[in-house]
Amino acid sequence: MAGPVQLWDGRWVFAALEDGLPTFRWGGAPSGVATRRQLRARGLRPGGQQPVAQIKWRRGRRWAGLYRLDLAMACRVPSPAQRAALGAALAARRRCRACVRDAGYVVPRSTGLCGDCTDSAGPIGAVGSARVSGNAFERENIWAAPSAA
Ligand SMILES: [Zn+2]
Repeated sequence: MAGPVQLWDGRWVFAALEDGLPTFRWGGAPSGVATRRQLRARGLRPGGQQPVAQIKWRRGRRWAGLYRLDLAMACRVPSPAQRAALGAALAARRRCRACVRDAGYVVPRSTGLCGDCTDSAGPIGAVGSARVSGNAFERENIWAAPSAA
């Protein structure tokens, strides 16, 4: 039942017309459209638009709508996978490399140590020299800055 079919953008292609939509086989979709799943992979969503075409596979038992890329909108909410990756990255930045605990704040990149471990580690680098010359009040302020950032 395939024949010349006009696409949403005026292009004519050789395709079937099923369910009122230009219908393509898996991998045969025209450019400029994507499935919901493919949109998701790009951080996009259909954004209220109706599919302008569809793909069918497994002898028509499986199908997916094709949405226009130029009308797709950015996802407002990160996907569960994106959220997990963000959470893991943040957790890594909060982990002290000495005691391997989640410090509860982002530890300074220069030392990678939580406040407790820095206090017990003795003088190291710039923080160490400030420690040696400073008093307890200055030490508190050294640690106040990175944890607030
Ligand atoms: Zn620590």
